[in-house]
Amino acid sequence: MRLRNIPGAEETIEASPFVVQDPASFRGRWKEAIFPGVKRFYLEIGCGKGIFLHTLSERDPETGFLGIEKMSSVLLRAVEKFGAEERANLRFLRMDAENITECFAPGEVDRIYLNFSDPWPKDRHHKRRLTSREFLARYAAVLSPGGTLEFKTDNEALFDFSLEELSAVHWTVTEMTRDLHRSPMNEGNVMTEYEDRFSTLGNRILKLIAKPAGA
Ligand code: SAM
Repeated sequence: MRLRNIPGAEETIEASPFVVQDPASFRGRWKEAIFPGVKRFYLEIGCGKGIFLHTLSERDPETGFLGIEKMSSVLLRAVEKFGAEERANLRFLRMDAENITECFAPGEVDRIYLNFSDPWPKDRHHKRRLTSREFLARYAAVLSPGGTLEFKTDNEALFDFSLEELSAVHWTVTEMTRDLHRSPMNEGNVMTEYEDRFSTLGNRILKLIAKPAGA
């Protein structure tokens, strides 16, 4: 994914009805204020161009889906792609996921998807990985009782790191596979842009589902 600046990206995102502005003002009332009538509220963190959520939101109109993406140049693609179509249960947010506890109240989020998160391979960058214990603490703070984290990647090192971090903070891994596309967990699987790209290259896809300690 190219991370160059695109002139006008910020302005287009700010003007888009698909992008939520001032997210902290909806803390504790996302379902009623942004997705009235939905039964569940799911996030994808690092949603890229939003292709995964576009499919999910079409399949499941009773769930509100919010894609969080920190790069304006990337989110612009989601907004441009889907801007002409009204989809009441799909919205996006341009934000660094470091700040999620400022925008979501305890217990407000029913599921968090992490798909093909950046691996940050250097040890000194481990806190930036979206499955580090620092991020897991943020997720635990906003997930509802019974709420889950679903993580897919083709990166074995990141997957192993994630299992170690989950164990260190006493999360429970309820399901996992190191070859998703040949596993029963693949039933109903929605491919992401990166999943499509990496599986076409022959890479195996790894997936886990986990829930916070005590949930
Ligand atoms: N999930 C998509 C997929 O599977 O096709 C995109 C994967 S791409 C490798 C990872 C995305 O996560 C990038 O668009 C990146 O900008 C975004 N990202 C990385 N760290 C983030 C953070 N802390 N907060 C929000 N987005 C982040």
